[in-house]
Amino acid sequence: MHRLIIFLCVLTLPVFAQGRRGRGRAVSNEVTLLKPARVFDGEAMHPGWMVLVRGERIDAAGPAVDASGAKVIDLPGMTVLPGLVEGHSHMLLHAYNETSWNDQVAHESTGLRVARATVHLRNTLMAGFTTMRDLGTEGAGYSDVELKQAVNQGIIPGPRILASTRAIVATGSYQPKGFSLEWRVPQGAEEADIDSIVRVVRDQIGHGADWVKLYADYRYGPQPGAHPTFSIEELKLAVETAHSAGAPLTVHSSTAEGMRRAVLAGVDSIEHGDAGTPEVFKMMAERHIPLCPTLAAGYFTSQYAGWNGKPPEPPGIERKRASFKAALDAGVTILSGSDVGVFTHGENAKEIELMVAYGMPPVDALKAATQTAGRVFHMDIGVVKSGMLADLIAVDGDPTSDITSLEKVRLVMKGGTVYKNPQ
Ligand SMILES: [Zn+2]
Repeated sequence: MHRLIIFLCVLTLPVFAQGRRGRGRAVSNEVTLLKPARVFDGEAMHPGWMVLVRGERIDAAGPAVDASGAKVIDLPGMTVLPGLVEGHSHMLLHAYNETSWNDQVAHESTGLRVARATVHLRNTLMAGFTTMRDLGTEGAGYSDVELKQAVNQGIIPGPRILASTRAIVATGSYQPKGFSLEWRVPQGAEEADIDSIVRVVRDQIGHGADWVKLYADYRYGPQPGAHPTFSIEELKLAVETAHSAGAPLTVHSSTAEGMRRAVLAGVDSIEHGDAGTPEVFKMMAERHIPLCPTLAAGYFTSQYAGWNGKPPEPPGIERKRASFKAALDAGVTILSGSDVGVFTHGENAKEIELMVAYGMPPVDALKAATQTAGRVFHMDIGVVKSGMLADLIAVDGDPTSDITSLEKVRLVMKGGTVYKNPQ
C-alpha cells in the first residue's frame, strides 16, 4: 500500500513528475517479499516459491529467500507470474462494436483518441499486462510515442510501451476507402513504395518507433480477399534500413505469399498468419521467426457480426483454428498478441485463453505471453529470476489448471511499484 500511496501522490503532483523527466518517480530501494501459493517463473510452475523484490528489480526467487527487513505481501491461494505481455495492440483504437475502424480513423480527432487511450493504458496495466507492443496508431500520428512519454514520466499509469508510430503500407492498398475518388483521403498508415521506403522507415524511427510495422498484404485490388503488397525487394530494403538503426521489423500478413516474402526478407516477426500453409510455417520455424496469431481479433469481430460465440463456429474461426494448429505442428515460436483495440482494452487475456482452447498446452500459452515475449523484445522481462525487472502479477488460482484465472488479477507490480494490491 505504501508504494501505491507514493504512486498516487506522483499522479497528483505534476511538478514532481515533470521534475523527473523520463522517470516518473524516484527509484526506491524498498524490499518486498511476495508470498503466493505458487510461482510461474516463465518456464514452469513452482509450488511454495516466494519472490523478493529490491527496488525496481527481482532480487531472488525460490522456496527459501533471505527476506529480513522485507515488507511482506501475503497472496494466499494465488499464483505470481511475470507481468503479461501484449504482443500486438492498438492503444489508439477502441472496440469495433462501438465505432467502426473507418469512422474512428475518419471522424474521431486525435485529442479525443488520445484521451481514450489514457484509459486504455490504465485498463491494460490493471489487467496484468505490464508491457505492450503497439503496432500502429491508425491515423493518430505519433501519439503512441507521446503516450509512452506520459507513462514513462509518471503522468498516467500504463504498461511499458514499444511503439511503432504510423505503420507503413504500399500506396493504394490501405484505408479508409469509400470516399469520392477525386479526394485524397488521409490514410490510417503512411504510404511508401520502392522510391520512398528507406526514407519512411528512417522517418518513423526518427519519430520514436521501437519496432517498424509494415503491411505485407491487405484486402485490395479487383479480386476479393487479401493480396501481397510490397515486393521482396521493397521488404528487404525496409528490413535492412530498420536493422541498421537497431530497430526490429514486423509485418502484418495473412496470405501465404505475403508471409513467404516477409520470411525471405528477414523480418523479425509476422502478425496474423491466417492463411499460412505448412510450407510457410516450416520456413518460419527454420528461421526462428515468431508468429503473433491474434486469435482474439477474429473471435470478437465474428461476434460483432452476429455469431453467438458457441458452436458451430463461423468458417473464418474454423480456418483460424486450422492455421494456428499448422503453426504449432511446424514448431513455430508463438508470441502472444491479440490485436486488442479491435476489442476492449483490458480483455487482453482472451488471447491466451483462446490459444489454449485452440490446442496449445497452458504452460506454453503462458510462456508465449511472458518468457518468449521478453526474448523477442530483448527486454529484462517475462522471467522471474534475480536481476530481471520486477514486473510481476498475482492471480487467483492456478492458470495452468484453469487459464481463465488470468482474468482474476489481484496484484500488479511494474518496476517494483505496486499499482494494484489485494491488501
Ligand atoms: Zn493490428
